[in-house]
Amino acid sequence: MELIFATHNKGKLKEVQGLVPEGIKVISLDDLNMTTEIEETGTTLQENALIKARYLYKQYKKPVLADDTGLEVNALGGAPGVYSARYAGTHGDAEKNMTLLLKNMESLEDRKARFRTVMAHIDAEGKETLFEGIVEGVISKVRQGAEGFGYDPIFQPEGNTLSFAQMPLAEKNLISHRARALKKFIEFINM
Ligand code: IMP
Repeated sequence: MELIFATHNKGKLKEVQGLVPEGIKVISLDDLNMTTEIEETGTTLQENALIKARYLYKQYKKPVLADDTGLEVNALGGAPGVYSARYAGTHGDAEKNMTLLLKNMESLEDRKARFRTVMAHIDAEGKETLFEGIVEGVISKVRQGAEGFGYDPIFQPEGNTLSFAQMPLAEKNLISHRARALKKFIEFINM
């Protein structure tokens, strides 16, 4: 089965390819030579995941999976949340985003945070299903590690002394928000 996965992000693509069963061929937006940016105009992760999935399904009429993720910090009332990718103003500038988040949390004792992913799947017949994956953790005071992407250097999953960026991908894949949502999707399609 071919499955379009709505991303240009090589890190995310690698994670998903490493998780899905062999019978699924994951096709990225780069594989489709898609250059149009799908505007994430929703105010929730769910809305954005559906916006992306519906756009791609309409365009290609193939099974599609689209995710939207937010880093939700307790002491900041859930921010950056749905705005995680552009927290510091420029979409996808992970360095600036981390710098701003560490600055905004400088004086905060409560470091609790969670990554939350919502995945929207549309099957070949156009039926929509949503899956959610969460990993709880804390925001460290400094960056640690060079693996992964986004906020990985400053996110320590619960019960761990390493940041996501200090873990090999396979270890992050066991517990990550995206992995958990994807696991539900895989169970759902029964492969
Ligand atoms: P997206 O909706 O999956 O593109 O995620 C939005 C933003 O959340 C990204 O730009 C990243 O900054 C951050 N993010 C998503 N997943 C991860 C992750 O696994 N590790 C670190 N940051 C992530």
